[in-house]
Amino acid sequence: MIIYKTEEEIELIKQSANILSRVHGEIARHVVEGVTTLKLDAVAEEFIRDNGGSPSFKGYNGFKHSLCISLNSAVVHGIPGNYSLQSGDVVSIDCGVFFQGFHSDSAYTHAVGEVSPEVRDLLLHTKESLYKGIEWAVAGARIGDIGYAVQSHVEQFGYGVVRELVGHGLGRNLHESPEVPNYGKRGQGMKLQEGLVLAIEPMVNLGSRHVVQEEDGWTIRTRDKKPSAHFEHTVVVRKGKAEILTTFDYIDNALN
Ligand code: MG
Ligand code: MG
Repeated sequence: MIIYKTEEEIELIKQSANILSRVHGEIARHVVEGVTTLKLDAVAEEFIRDNGGSPSFKGYNGFKHSLCISLNSAVVHGIPGNYSLQSGDVVSIDCGVFFQGFHSDSAYTHAVGEVSPEVRDLLLHTKESLYKGIEWAVAGARIGDIGYAVQSHVEQFGYGVVRELVGHGLGRNLHESPEVPNYGKRGQGMKLQEGLVLAIEPMVNLGSRHVVQEEDGWTIRTRDKKPSAHFEHTVVVRKGKAEILTTFDYIDNALN
């Protein structure tokens, strides 16, 4: 079942997304060499609760933390722990906020200190592909147009697009229909209508697209152990141009 949102509901999701975007800015200030990923998780949870929200991920299917933190060859769903960030790491931070009955969902991959040029390019091109996909979150386009835009952008650089995990609708539930794959064919799949709220989230590997799940039951890792990147926004399908509810502006401000 597809749940289209009213303008009143979208307004609430926008408020949730605003808290989430500011959480990402706060985390960005803490992504430095030596910080543990558990510390980042604590920073996020405190910020979310101080702003009247709750962490969407905490308790979701038994997940114990507010952030998924995925290092280097981990793609998504990494568990915060005692590891201290080191220069050269790439760290994907995925966070969800629940506020006044509605979820928002956003992810960003940071470079810690100095990373190799090929990894820096991976992050750049994956972030670009997110916006290429978002361009198609417009009424009358189809789900496959989003996936095609993401896939065609990143595959030109030889990267692998993860197939096993996809974007999704969201609202009162963190995950709603439809699924939003990061691969696809133009003009295929469900037709998009105004009021559909989507999390669009390319997961892109420097090497092959194949992934494996770790024995911890959560972490998804590249099979070839090469790095991966993940960028995600919560958006509303609109006529003519998608409305992006989350923003990376707070991250950009924190890093500059
Ligand atoms: Mg997410
Ligand atoms: Mg998501």
